[in-house]
Amino acid sequence: MMKKRNTFHRVLYIDLDKNAFKIRNREELFKKYIGGTGVAIQLLYEECPEGIDPLSPEAPIVMAIGPLTGVFPLASKTVALFKSPLTGNLGESHVGGRSAVAIRMAGFGAIVIKGKSRNPVYLSIHDDKVFFKDATTIWQMSSSFTAGRIIRQKEDDSGLRSIMRIGQAGENMVSYAAVTTETYRHFGRMGLGAVFGSKMIKGINISGKSSIDVEDRKSYRKLYKTLYDAAVDSPLMKKYHDLGTAGNVLTLNELDSLPTKNLRHSRLEGVEKISGEHLAKHFLGRRVACAHCPVGCIHLAAVREPSEHEEHFYKTTMVGYDFELIFALGSMLGISDPEVMLKLIDQVEKYGVDAMSIGVCMAWATEMFMKKKITTEHTDGLNLKWGDGKTYEQLVKKIVLQENDFYKALAKGAEYAAEQYGGKGFAMSFGKNEMAGYHTGPAAYLGFLIGARHSHLDNAGYSLDQTEMINNPITSHEVVDKLIKEEGLRQLLSSLTVCFFSRGIYKIDVIKDTLKEIGLDLSVEELNKIGEQIYLDKYRFKFREGFEFDKLHVPERIYETPDLTGLISPEFIKEGLSYAETRIKESIG
Ligand code: SF4
Repeated sequence: MMKKRNTFHRVLYIDLDKNAFKIRNREELFKKYIGGTGVAIQLLYEECPEGIDPLSPEAPIVMAIGPLTGVFPLASKTVALFKSPLTGNLGESHVGGRSAVAIRMAGFGAIVIKGKSRNPVYLSIHDDKVFFKDATTIWQMSSSFTAGRIIRQKEDDSGLRSIMRIGQAGENMVSYAAVTTETYRHFGRMGLGAVFGSKMIKGINISGKSSIDVEDRKSYRKLYKTLYDAAVDSPLMKKYHDLGTAGNVLTLNELDSLPTKNLRHSRLEGVEKISGEHLAKHFLGRRVACAHCPVGCIHLAAVREPSEHEEHFYKTTMVGYDFELIFALGSMLGISDPEVMLKLIDQVEKYGVDAMSIGVCMAWATEMFMKKKITTEHTDGLNLKWGDGKTYEQLVKKIVLQENDFYKALAKGAEYAAEQYGGKGFAMSFGKNEMAGYHTGPAAYLGFLIGARHSHLDNAGYSLDQTEMINNPITSHEVVDKLIKEEGLRQLLSSLTVCFFSRGIYKIDVIKDTLKEIGLDLSVEELNKIGEQIYLDKYRFKFREGFEFDKLHVPERIYETPDLTGLISPEFIKEGLSYAETRIKESIG
């Protein structure tokens, strides 16, 4: 029998010190800040002691979903806010898969986890119950796939369920360790996996049997159909389904914007072989989708390898790929052989580490090695060179296991390692977060630098380079104004937890209509204000935790390698940063 109740406003608080939990109704919070990032930043303020070490037991993990989750298509993300072990400040990461719908079906809008378990555990959340299950036997298991499979077999769930888990990278607290959900989706960025590891959480299994009722079924169905049809018919969404983001590889290469060999170049020779087109033709085995998404942009390559044990027997491994993986574990490392790249992606996946961060760290290490600033003594015998996938597979393992001081430093990120060993001018991190694959021009870098989480995702500066900076360049102040405006809008989307790929569908009027359908009547002005407010609240948190614009390091490499717009001027970036600081500080008051 399905339960019908409005449980979205409930927050589940889990205390690992006491193996206890409680549920609180926080309707006031969800009404004011909608859900997702908006609610999560408020919960982070409430729960995170000022100046806390990101890996200490008192540092909270906050996960939140949006009010449209399970109601309208593409509202499929769960956001996590925490203190990042990579940047030492605000950490934020989003994941799809079945996670958001499972949290909603379990009857929660948000989950807060604090404390530290005495031994490895996985949390099993079923409707209103939380079980703390022993995970000793799956701790330090070499593959995060196998750990996930074991949790699945042990948990006899019914209802919609999601399994999150970490790999060895999280257990060893690599600062950019990921949390994997449903195998091909990740809380990738900023080290949530290390925070799980610090609390001895191997995984979370969550399921439930709630259902959601709507007031006016007729008008709900009508709006649902409009959104569903838009998702299925839109040419942009077709692009995501067809080649996926991997379709950007050739375009960015053609535009001199594809970071290659640690951004010593912006084009890769032989790039066609790792393009979305080539991968689709020769490797694509399957497409999958997040729950409640009719698009299905997740591309899985089938990689066949001959068995070592049996003649004429082949092992087939499904490997997820997208643009960011191709940049970080392909072009950035000078790899243009698709099988080599896919095997490296698989290795990174098994250890459960953020592909973008580890790719950028390995690219920095390769350049250091080739410039003879580090030797085989540092690398424990590895001879690093561009394109050598087998050596990179070993490098991933050594970083995760951190067997010497050099690897311990590299496990803390490229900027940290460069502070210890030199080469800061080509350690490609921004706000201590390793770069995304867009060397499009100054707007992309200003976007990385001033974005609340130093991610390309929240303001898409790279798209400003391709529209504004290439034709009729605008000033650095105008760039910053546009980036901040976009970031405000995207805070709204991440409070609804709709997939950013659907931002062309979820325009502000549509957001207004969908919220009205579920009983939240807000004007366009009020919505815009909430978006701005969330952005500023994130900055307030960052300042509280010691963020300073003056301390942002900009690697000189970005000024040396030509991009789509020519060469970036250091003055442009400097002016933009100074203006952003004034604007943000004035807005906060
Ligand atoms: S478009 Fe892709 S990432 Fe977005 S919800 Fe659908 S499958 Fe998930």
